[in-house]
Amino acid sequence: MSISSQVDALFGGGPCSDGQSAPTGGLIASDGGAREASAEDLPRAWQVLEQVMDPEVPVVSVTDLGIVRDLSWEDGHLRVVVTPTYSGCPATELIENEITKALEQAGFRTPRIERQLAPAWTTDWISERGRERLRAYGIAPPVGSSSKRSLLGEPVTVSCPHCGSQETEVVSEFGSTACKALYRCRSCLEPFDYFKCI
Ligand SMILES: [Zn+2]
Repeated sequence: MSISSQVDALFGGGPCSDGQSAPTGGLIASDGGAREASAEDLPRAWQVLEQVMDPEVPVVSVTDLGIVRDLSWEDGHLRVVVTPTYSGCPATELIENEITKALEQAGFRTPRIERQLAPAWTTDWISERGRERLRAYGIAPPVGSSSKRSLLGEPVTVSCPHCGSQETEVVSEFGSTACKALYRCRSCLEPFDYFKCI
């Protein structure tokens, strides 16, 4: 039995088992699952991550949130750099597990997740598509940028994600999670979460 077929037996065939073409890189014998990267690996990994949803706001993906900072190939494995939305966010570990699971299901063996705390994540990193998805879900996306304005506590005008009215008021500084505030619309009277600028 050759080394590569042993590894394949160990991992159940991995990416080759779906009948598609085998990855172009050869296996690195000393590290089970390690292999050389092919040109499609990183673009494909980004595609996989676009489908990994934030457990707290399941309509936005980890790439919409901008928390995946970098993908690279290192020592035969995919390396994923993740910056949590805020340090100590209880969902961070869950998100990292979801990322690992999705990548492994897509055939990336033992991806390495690296947590990077600096520079800190800000709501500015949420993509345009992410903001649209938040709005469609009924969460007002962060207004403006995480500049001095929010630090100085100056009021911001938050538009109602349901009817678009700017006649809104804060009900509670803390909504369903610590990153959100609870608002209510004075026009349609619907409550909604506002994704705070941090
Ligand atoms: Zn409204």
